[in-house]
Amino acid sequence: MSRIFPLSVVAIMFIIIVLPVLLARSCRHPASERPRAAERIPIPSPGGKIPILVFNHLSQQLVEMELEEYLVGVVAAEMPASFALEALKAQAIVARTYTVNKMRSFGGEGCTRNPGADICTDPAFCQAWESEEQSLSKWPEADARQYLDKLRRAVAQTAGKVVLHNGQTIDAVFHSNCGGQTENSEDVWLSARPYLRGKLCPYCDDTRWSQTEHVYTGAQFARQILPYVQAIPVSSAGQPLLGAAERSSSGRVSQLSVAGENISGRDFRSALQLPSTNFTWRFVGEQVIFTVRGHGHGVGLCQYGADGMARAGKTAREIIYYYYTEVTVNSLPR
Ligand SMILES: [Zn+2]
Ligand SMILES: [Zn+2]
Repeated sequence: MSRIFPLSVVAIMFIIIVLPVLLARSCRHPASERPRAAERIPIPSPGGKIPILVFNHLSQQLVEMELEEYLVGVVAAEMPASFALEALKAQAIVARTYTVNKMRSFGGEGCTRNPGADICTDPAFCQAWESEEQSLSKWPEADARQYLDKLRRAVAQTAGKVVLHNGQTIDAVFHSNCGGQTENSEDVWLSARPYLRGKLCPYCDDTRWSQTEHVYTGAQFARQILPYVQAIPVSSAGQPLLGAAERSSSGRVSQLSVAGENISGRDFRSALQLPSTNFTWRFVGEQVIFTVRGHGHGVGLCQYGADGMARAGKTAREIIYYYYTEVTVNSLPR
């Protein structure tokens, strides 16, 4: 067979065989069309580039990144990219503050679970992070490029900025949705922080998670709560045995009784996988229905509230000054 095809045959083969494959690929794998470096919105590094050692809990690898570039992946993983720009900017400042607090080059203790790392990507231990590739394949294809630009803009426009209290970076905790009122730090954890005070939050009202219902049969309730109590947690008729609840000033359950035994609100929440400890309940036959306000621990910045404030015209700085008491947003102390 001749090794030289006429040009027209090559062109026809390209149109019939190669082109459809290329097109199908680019449709099925939007992540394969990653933007080139020159097309990405640049992020400045005021005061020089800061290296950070990140342990990727999925690939089990220790990777060195540049702090500001790392933060793009944190904001992408921690807040919906559909949120308003000023909310994403507030999240970038909060994530930068949380990160710097962990970094050994800033006097932090690093990731306590992965020696050698400043921080890990496991949200159960440090802070969620995802690669640009993961973000691009997670987002709807039509929005992906615009979302990436928005996140990079949020990090770029806040580059080097952190939240300070008395000149020190704060413990910048945040949660998804406070359900109407944020919580004092000592009502959730042991230590009282002057900048983590409970606050009324009208801004997350009427959003996802502001109020949800969760239904359990007596048998489901018993199965999930049994590891936490000694007694049988349902009556002979199969109804959950729930007694009085002690509540914090914001209405979150600090303790409640199950079949006469006390259990903490936090344990109860995790046993039943409720979105927060701010709940009430009612019985319908053998079922118990929990009405839950908010999602998360409720301390510090409320993410849905931040989005509500941004949509009402507030700036990232105003959002942070609302959810953290007696703080300033300023450049990273070196
Ligand atoms: Zn960690
Ligand atoms: Zn809120």
